Amino acid sequence: MTDKPRILVTGAGGFIGHHLVRRMKDDGFWVRGADIKPAEFETSPADDFALLDLRLWENCLKATKDVDQVYNLAADMGGIGYITANHADISRNNILINTHMLDASRLNGVQRFLFSSSDVEPLKESDAIPADPEPGYGWEKLFAEELCRYYKKDYGMETRIVRFHNVYGPLGTYDGGKEKAPAAISRKVALVDDGGDIEVWGDGEQTRSFMYVDDCVAGLIRLMASDYAEPLNLGTDRLVTINELIDLVSDVAGKKLNKQHDLSKPQGVRGRNSDNTLLNRVLGWEPTIQLEEGLKITYRWIESELRKAGRLPAVAAGHASR
Ligand code: NAD
Repeated sequence: MTDKPRILVTGAGGFIGHHLVRRMKDDGFWVRGADIKPAEFETSPADDFALLDLRLWENCLKATKDVDQVYNLAADMGGIGYITANHADISRNNILINTHMLDASRLNGVQRFLFSSSDVEPLKESDAIPADPEPGYGWEKLFAEELCRYYKKDYGMETRIVRFHNVYGPLGTYDGGKEKAPAAISRKVALVDDGGDIEVWGDGEQTRSFMYVDDCVAGLIRLMASDYAEPLNLGTDRLVTINELIDLVSDVAGKKLNKQHDLSKPQGVRGRNSDNTLLNRVLGWEPTIQLEEGLKITYRWIESELRKAGRLPAVAAGHASR
């Protein structure tokens, strides 16, 4: 027990961070979670949970004290609506978090530091620049990747860089503007009656790949344990359109819905997929949980949350309990 590394997960009050803390605790690690807010849907199982604003340098020093490995997942982020409307806030906040976390980790002798980046186009890891990253959020992620590389080169710090591709699952935000497509669609499908309308941002032909959160966490732990310090895509290589995603969720719900496309809404990049060639080579592993399986669990969880909140119409609630 004592020779196991002590772990810090930042963003432990958020979606992936909370799942990672749960998994690391199950695996017998001592874990500190840090976040500006507590975990939203259930209590964090972390041994120590520090409520800290990690934009601030002194808080990063506190968070990284006496830990060996840092999974830096804290970020100001959200769905496409949120990241399109808040370029300045998101970039500033995340640059502060990442710069301060990286340097505090160095000063406190952290052995390994993992930075969670995002999918950039084009999608081979070596092709990030010249790329066409999302304004604000995407540029900030690419810069933080470079910072990790400089810390490795100049200070010999062991850094790991993961690029996630649309992670989904239960215990994630599903309402309020920060939710991503699978959660937003699950909420909309749950709230509408069979035969009703569902609003789609854009023409719905934009493509994405989606990774279930358990696969994401498994990949993170493997990458941290590896000796690979370059950016690595972590996602599935099954591409679906948003229209197909809606059909899959509707199937889970047992509903037939009419898609109403709103072309005035932001829809993000046209196509985005994870190229898993390198993932397979580096980790000898790739995500295994099928989209249908993951969506079923996610939809059921969101449906039950909506029911708890009294937001499901009686007909839909009857449907849901089958
Ligand atoms: P999330 O929003 O659920 O979690 C991020 C957490 O960071 C939140 O709990 C938030 O409170 C915390 N945070 C924000 N500002 C903070 C601050 N100043 N101090 C301390 N904590 C702060 O997001 P997530 O989906 O769990 O994503 C985790 C990481 O993965 C992020 O870095 C994100 O950019 C990256 N990522 C996620 C996806 C995805 O599909 N979920 C895709 C690409 C990249």
